[in-house]
Formats: sequence, C-alpha cells, structure tokens
Amino acid sequence: MQSNVYFIDLRATPKENFLSKLKRLMETAGISSVIDKKDLVAVKLHFGELGNTAFIRPVYIRKIVEIIKELGGDPFLTDANTVYAGTRGSAPSHLTTAIQNGFAYAVVEAPLVIADGLRGRTETGIVINQKRFKKAYIGTEIIHADTLISVAHFKGHELSGFGGTIKNLGMGCASRKGKLAQHSTVNPQINVEKCEGCGDCVLRCSQKALSVIEKKAVLDSKKCIGCGECILICEKGAVEIEWNQSIPVFLENMVEYTLAVLKNKSGKGFFINFITDVSPACDCMPVNDAPIVRNIGVVASTDPVAIDQASVDLVNSEAALPGSCLTVNTAPGEDKFKGIYPKVDWQIQLDYAQELGLGNKEYNLVRI
Ligand code: SF4
Ligand code: SF4
Repeated sequence: MQSNVYFIDLRATPKENFLSKLKRLMETAGISSVIDKKDLVAVKLHFGELGNTAFIRPVYIRKIVEIIKELGGDPFLTDANTVYAGTRGSAPSHLTTAIQNGFAYAVVEAPLVIADGLRGRTETGIVINQKRFKKAYIGTEIIHADTLISVAHFKGHELSGFGGTIKNLGMGCASRKGKLAQHSTVNPQINVEKCEGCGDCVLRCSQKALSVIEKKAVLDSKKCIGCGECILICEKGAVEIEWNQSIPVFLENMVEYTLAVLKNKSGKGFFINFITDVSPACDCMPVNDAPIVRNIGVVASTDPVAIDQASVDLVNSEAALPGSCLTVNTAPGEDKFKGIYPKVDWQIQLDYAQELGLGNKEYNLVRI
C-alpha cells in the first residue's frame, strides 16, 4: 500500500500566503492526529552551523509552533550536540548559535532544549536488537517528549548522499556516543599522491587527528572519530575512505538509529521536509554552496521513508541550476546526488528503512 506524501509548491497569492499554505499542508497531512492536549512536542530541526545560511528560516518554524499550540500541544525546539568542535558541540555553544541564527524565543515563540544536555551525555539507551546495534543512544529529551515532529532541510550530504527526515532523526537525535557509534566505520586515509600539504584538513579536524609533516597530511587513526569532515574539506580529493565498505554500513547504522528514535513514538511522529535552498552539503558545514536545483516546496507525511523517497524524486526531476557545483547529471530525471557524490549509494538508507518496517518507499504525492 502506498503512503501519502503531501506537497505544496512555493506559489502564493494575496488570499493565501506561504505561511497559510504551510498550515494547510500540515492540517491536510494529519498533524492533529499526532498531538493530544498537553503533549510535550519535540520539534527536531537543525539550527545551522554558524556561517551556514541554508537552514530553514525561523519564521517558518514559528508558524509550525503556532499550529502545535492551537492543537493544545506544548512545543519546544530541539537538536542534539555534534561530535566535532564547531559551534554546536555543547549546549551553551549550541544555544548561542541557534539564537545567533535567528531561533530566539522572540522569533520562534518556543523554548530551545538541547536534547542530549550540556556535553552530549544526557542519553537514553534504546534496545533495538538489530543487525548493527543491539542498543542505540538517543538524546533523552527527545525520548521523553510525547510527540516528535521532524522538520528537516532537504539537501545533499557527503556521507549519506542526501539528508532528509531519516538523517534528521537517526543522526540528529543521537547523543555524542550514538553519533560516534554510527561513524565508527568511516575511517579515512590520506592519498599522498594527491595531497598538497595545504593544511585545510588539519584546521577542520576537531580531534587533532591530522597534521602536516614534510608537506603531506598524516592521520592518527587512534584519534580519528570518523566524522568525515576532512573528506569534504579537501579540494584535492586526497582524503579517501573505502566507500564500498564504509558507506553502506554507515547508512544502515543511521537507519537503525532512526528506528530507535521512533520506537516510543508510534502514532506520534510527523515529518516535514523543506526542499528549499538545496545545498550540496550538510548544514553542519560553516558554509553552504549555491543550491543545486530551484526551490521546490515543502512535503509532509506520517511516513519517514515515503517523505524522503518523494523528496529525492522531486529534486531529481528538476534541472540543475546553472552556476551550481553540479557538472554532471544536470538534466531533469538524472540523479543530482550521485552527480555530487558518485561513490555514495543513497538508495541504501531508503531500502534498509523499508526493510526494518519504518515506512514505505511507495508513495502517493498529493499536491495541495
Ligand atoms: S586538505 Fe587535502 S591537500 Fe590539504 S593537507 Fe589535507 S589532505 Fe592534503
Ligand atoms: S581525521 Fe577526518 S574523519 Fe577523522 S576526526 Fe579528523 S576530520 Fe574527522
């Protein structure tokens, strides 16, 4: 049976502006069915790394908050800390970054709660007994929430091909230990033939696992946590991983964590993807390159697999934007994410998610 994925484009009229349309989308997609009066509602989003500007605009989040309140819910905005240093590695820096990026209470009208606490150690172990993990470690406040609403910015990602609902949940809700466990198979190596010793990767590595010796990068594998940041930063392609082995395992890890996040949210999960500012890389980067396709719209569903499948299909049905980083697979119907990351088989995350019963790749796109 197909799952419904509801879609709005960005057209607006004086009678219905985009915010009103967003409300109609959420209502039509069934937001009222997942919120009971007095529910504590976690709105999981990405506040954006400082320097990145592609994250979802706070005014859209305010509208979502308003809708939750109208239904009697008690919303809070949340994300979990990162494993790399960056500007969101602890609750104080994370909250400061969120406010600097516009998610102040005065704008969004909901409090911010960092799901895994001061240093990313406030976690709850969820027993899942799957192929890769018996137990997954999730930010406790997300587990304690009655309802979980994922609001994901749909974009490219260097390790998962694209990032949408599954990534927002599986990686985004994991505590520091949980994120490390998912990344543990991503073990980069330096190709000395390609390395020019510029040192960019050294500056980006939060673990001090990289140094430049005699004009070549050297990686200390004992310190490396497999965060993958150095892979993206190296413009020479000198940081390599065993893509065929590492990426499938990484993607399955992420999907198993999504299963853990949703384990106590049966009938209490709702998912929204903003397919706007579709940048080639993650919002965790302190920069965002030009979007690869035009702004498409927003989708909502109660099926986390269908919504990501629909989102990737919507992006791939577009022509690439001139002036973006895409130089291959630019025509409508061609795979834009394979065009950017040819070694990442993003399909694995959807296939495995369906196999675990998280949702359905078959969907019915309802344009409203
Ligand atoms: S960023 Fe790339 S080229 Fe520069 S030092 Fe690191 S591995 Fe070498
Ligand atoms: S070496 Fe690369 S993958 Fe390892 S911790 Fe440093 S930035 Fe992350």
